[in-house]
Amino acid sequence: MSRYAIGMDVGGTSARFGLLSETGEVLFQTSCPTGLAATGAELLDQFRQGVREALASARDRRVTVSGVGIAMPAFVDDQGAVAGSCNLPGLNGVAVARVLESEFRLPVGMENDVSAGAYGEYYFGEHAGSSRRMLFLSIGTGIGGGMIVDGKLLRVAQGCLGDPGHVIVDPSGQAPCRCGGNGCLEAVASGWALVEQAQRMGINAIPREIFEGARAGHAALAELARRAAIYTGVGLATLCVLFNPDLVVLGGGVAAEAGESFRRQAERTLRAHAVPFFSRQVKVRLSQAGPAAGLLGAAALILFQATG
Ligand SMILES: [Zn+2]
Repeated sequence: MSRYAIGMDVGGTSARFGLLSETGEVLFQTSCPTGLAATGAELLDQFRQGVREALASARDRRVTVSGVGIAMPAFVDDQGAVAGSCNLPGLNGVAVARVLESEFRLPVGMENDVSAGAYGEYYFGEHAGSSRRMLFLSIGTGIGGGMIVDGKLLRVAQGCLGDPGHVIVDPSGQAPCRCGGNGCLEAVASGWALVEQAQRMGINAIPREIFEGARAGHAALAELARRAAIYTGVGLATLCVLFNPDLVVLGGGVAAEAGESFRRQAERTLRAHAVPFFSRQVKVRLSQAGPAAGLLGAAALILFQATG
């Protein structure tokens, strides 16, 4: 008999709720608005409503829900509370999982969204297969990462892999980062960094347009995309000698838009820079999870017991 879980993918403007099976099928979906101005109490009310709807859908289908998994765009502290969220400040200090657990009397797990994404990729992704040590690098507006070792999340700092988007790849001092550092991978290869670099060349473009322009032969945009891929490879070279993954999966919206040539360049650069012992075996692949990635990751926390 298949097992089912509710996945809750929380974002800065909306939260999505899904009823998912252990094969990754999404049987029901709903969403609610979130936002910078929302208070913790307002957000919790929205979350309760979303979970209630997903549970009602499970009842209609006569399936039993094993629990609720939450992917949160923030760190989760030792007490299980949301920490350091810039997008949803109303939730800082709120132990969302515990609140929902006592309300619905179901197991509720909560992880940083990139950690949940790594978990989802490991269990649902088509590349994970026999991987024992998978590094998931999420390249979206920002860059984050998660590492799964023998089916478990590696917790290095902040309850997760820390901030691998902020490994230094450019020591020139010309790439100030939003974290306060300078030369971070995120400052040269993330969605926001690509937009800013294009602007400095007099081009107003979102990442999708930058990669489309690059593919269409626009020389400056092609160089921008190539440099982002090279820096990603340099960042991966550092991460690989530390964590020794056998598989790197590039996820997130910007990686999906960047596509296969970006992946190839990043993999080539990784192999050219990292010690062969660490770089010879590792494969770099693009995530195929698509828009359901967040829900899959959240549900995987329950279906494959990442937390606790
Ligand atoms: Zn940084």
